[in-house]
Amino acid sequence: MLNGERLIARPLRWGMVGGGRLGQVGYKHRSGALRDNTAYQLVAAAFDIDPQRGRSFGVNLGVSEERLYDNYQAMFAAEAERADGLEVVSIATPNGTHYEITKAALNAGLHVICEKPLFFTSAEVVEIRELARAKNRIVGVTYGFSGHPLLMQMRAMVTSGLLGDIRIVDLQYTHGFNATDAVDKISDAQKWRVDPKVAGPSFVLGDLSTHTFYMSQLIMPHMKIRELLCDRQSFIPSRAPLEDNARVLMHYENGAVGTLWASSVNAGCMDSQKIRIVGSRASIEWTDSRPSELRYEVQGEPRQILDRGMSYLDDICNAEERMGALHTEGLAESWANIYLRIARAIDATSRGDTSLLETLVYPGIEAGLDGVRWIENCVRSADQGAVWVDFE
Ligand code: NAD
Repeated sequence: MLNGERLIARPLRWGMVGGGRLGQVGYKHRSGALRDNTAYQLVAAAFDIDPQRGRSFGVNLGVSEERLYDNYQAMFAAEAERADGLEVVSIATPNGTHYEITKAALNAGLHVICEKPLFFTSAEVVEIRELARAKNRIVGVTYGFSGHPLLMQMRAMVTSGLLGDIRIVDLQYTHGFNATDAVDKISDAQKWRVDPKVAGPSFVLGDLSTHTFYMSQLIMPHMKIRELLCDRQSFIPSRAPLEDNARVLMHYENGAVGTLWASSVNAGCMDSQKIRIVGSRASIEWTDSRPSELRYEVQGEPRQILDRGMSYLDDICNAEERMGALHTEGLAESWANIYLRIARAIDATSRGDTSLLETLVYPGIEAGLDGVRWIENCVRSADQGAVWVDFE
């Protein structure tokens, strides 16, 4: 169980690029990183594309005014001159900026925690992976809900063989907030999401399904996709060529089959993500609208609901438990766990503790690469007319 006690020697000196006053995801980063007050300390930022707004926001957050910068270039240069300068920076800006900011941060000697989808192309990720290796720095990726303890329970149940052979994987990340084009007209954050120059080669495949795809890999680390077929379309024509709806069929190397549905036009849906794993003996199912409950269904037996925080759960699940059973825990704690996992990876890297590093489970650059490859393969299949393609 986590009680906020420090797991690394001292908090990392942390900064942010983006995630400013009007940014959608910035608060999730701060609540995740600062939850325990023992892993990160927010010391500097270039919060906003509008420097003045970024500064006034930073002052209100309590960041020292002299360490609020007009842009990330100025921040990386000035912080490198300080004995107490930044050690790690989070990037919470629109997709099209991730690559250049990550590269600049690594070249400035910083560890990086970047939003998904990591970059536009897998070639860019491979290049940055080499740079990160050369600089001995971590690149983490914020797949937000993947830090929820019950996902580690699912991982333990799958990898221990409790479900039998995995046969069917059913994944979903959908909502209905873009069922009409009303949001496209008023929200800057939605406008860039359907502009390929800023969003990259996809909308919902990158925006939504990269989360669920990573979570499926976290739960089933041994399962690799052999080939997939993706059908994507935009029900609101102005969003084309990017999709507001996509269906993917998957064939795994072990013979299992899967489906993933990503959509922002699933009108009325408030369930968000759903993950169902069907084995030859039993199935498990989790949805982030009821994150504290894991359905466990053994063929021929009464269905069970496993509740978060209970002692019958696996140790790797309860190790990241914070509130205890009976008390709700959700997205905020999940983000805190992601940030903590990455802090431990950064700390182990800095100390040269490679044996610890190898045991840590966190969304690093390989998870970022897998997410970008996932998008590339889906788009390649869809744009050839929804055909099966080998997963490259
Ligand atoms: P947004 O448009 O709401 O906010 C972007 C923020 O970045 C704004 O504060 C803007 O001023 C700032 N910004 C833009 N360019 C900048 C630059 N060059 N330098 C400094 N600041 C800059 O976007 P959002 O919805 O918060 O999404 C940001 C990123 O986070 C995207 O990559 C998105 O895919 C991702 N995201 C992830 C999650 C998650 O759960 N992990 C949730 C939402 C968004």
